[in-house]
Amino acid sequence: MTNKIVSWYKVNKRNLPWRLSRDPYKIWVSEIILQQTQIKNGINYYNKFLKLFPDVKKLANSSEENVLKAWQGLGYYNRAINMLHTAKKIAFDLDGNFPDKYSELLKLKGIGDYTASAISSICYNEKKAVVDGNVYRVISRYFDVEESIDTAKGKNKIKKIATSILPKDKVGDYNQALMDFGALQCTKYNPKCLECPLANKCVAKEKNTVHVRPVKSKIKVSKIRYFNYFHIKNNCYFIVQKRKSNDVWKKLYEFPLIESKKSLKFEELVKNSFFKNFKVLDFKKKFVLVHKLSHQQLKIFFWELYVEKIPSDFKKITFNQFKKYPFPKPFEIYLEYLDKIN
Ligand code: SF4
Repeated sequence: MTNKIVSWYKVNKRNLPWRLSRDPYKIWVSEIILQQTQIKNGINYYNKFLKLFPDVKKLANSSEENVLKAWQGLGYYNRAINMLHTAKKIAFDLDGNFPDKYSELLKLKGIGDYTASAISSICYNEKKAVVDGNVYRVISRYFDVEESIDTAKGKNKIKKIATSILPKDKVGDYNQALMDFGALQCTKYNPKCLECPLANKCVAKEKNTVHVRPVKSKIKVSKIRYFNYFHIKNNCYFIVQKRKSNDVWKKLYEFPLIESKKSLKFEELVKNSFFKNFKVLDFKKKFVLVHKLSHQQLKIFFWELYVEKIPSDFKKITFNQFKKYPFPKPFEIYLEYLDKIN
């Protein structure tokens, strides 16, 4: 299997910008971004991130707000905060030197088995298997693994198999080859089995179980939440706040928010004690959208309000200032909507 994957890779390798380098900083950035998004979108984020923070020292010396702004739209903002933390550790405690061993990389905040395996194998040829969603799929099919890949048992089994088939040399190239093979050949839907170099030994193909591999047992239950955002305006200013609680979008900026258990009318929302701070002159429901996260669905209502005065204990800014702050994806959509209608 291993040799065939390597031969396939020589012909079909994807040209990705981080593959031009074995610099652990670049590989680290690319791997963390790719845990958040698809390749196409990931390339844009990667290029933008490296332009802003070309090396670990530059990242370490950046503000949290700038890093979050560069990360805006990718989600899981803790990943960006952890990257900044780790960049500081490397730049200031390790004299700018990235650890060159899997076991040392694992000690860094935000670097788990997957990222440590990727960096150590790609940059230092350490014999570590990188197991992403593509690799889970290829191995589950080729070896017809019946264990569910969302259980520890299933994960361990795939990792063991992946480790056992690693080549002696060029481990990083091979890891990338297997990921590309899953992304391009052994795809989730309509895998190209008829023209597959592994077909004659692929157990799932032989047993006709390709369409049910990999096995997943857990059904994701999506919790529904209702977010009512208030775009509270006075002249050209409006109110923003920084999210502090341990919830989604921590440390990003937003409008004042009231979360409710169901969709509410403005007459019901305005009874909230928060509105004691304002004399509302006018209001309208501006925009509604549904934002899906991995375990929750946010139904978001943007309300536009005109108030007589914004009390001084609220942070008030202008539109152009707001665009410089890191804010969640739905705000990007809301701002685009405002740009369109104004
Ligand atoms: S034969 Fe089909 S299922 Fe098996 S490895 Fe190839 S593409 Fe994947």
